Amino acid sequence: MSVSTVPDRRWLTSAIALSRLAPPSRARYAVGAIVVDHGGVVLAAGHTGESDPHDHAEEVALAKLAGRCDLSRATLYSSLEPCTARRSRPLTCAGAILAAGIRRVVFAMREPPLLADCHGAEILRRGGLDVVEVGDLAYLVAEINNDVLGVTAVGCTPRCAPTRPGTHRTAAGTTGPAR
Ligand SMILES: [Zn+2]
Repeated sequence: MSVSTVPDRRWLTSAIALSRLAPPSRARYAVGAIVVDHGGVVLAAGHTGESDPHDHAEEVALAKLAGRCDLSRATLYSSLEPCTARRSRPLTCAGAILAAGIRRVVFAMREPPLLADCHGAEILRRGGLDVVEVGDLAYLVAEINNDVLGVTAVGCTPRCAPTRPGTHRTAAGTTGPAR
């Protein structure tokens, strides 16, 4: 795993800002994703619910690039760890990233085990990708997703979500909403 660079932090901050465009919902995380080539040119971007309520940010950005260019030297920036489980569609964002041939992913916040059991970082690393977690920016993602984290988590403040993911539990006797 490599460390983040100054441009990484800038692009990731842009992806986090993009997530604010997601339509408000307590049933899913607001996520922003940006694909940047090795020369620093934005190839595509997307956010949660961009054209359909079930849209995930990473899949939206990648769909705009489908078959158009070699992404092997591009980096995908996502405010949240790419998903490996979802109820809304069969293709996960981690799967879409692997299929697209992207070799590097930078994200800010690990997905808490509230809406789905996510292992995006591990799955992508196992796939040979360079995965960089910029955890000190995770609080920004948590703030934007305060409603989701607040209504789903029990005994936990949104601030603890990115740093203590193992402490989260869904409410007893309830099932978390679909992501
Ligand atoms: Zn996803």
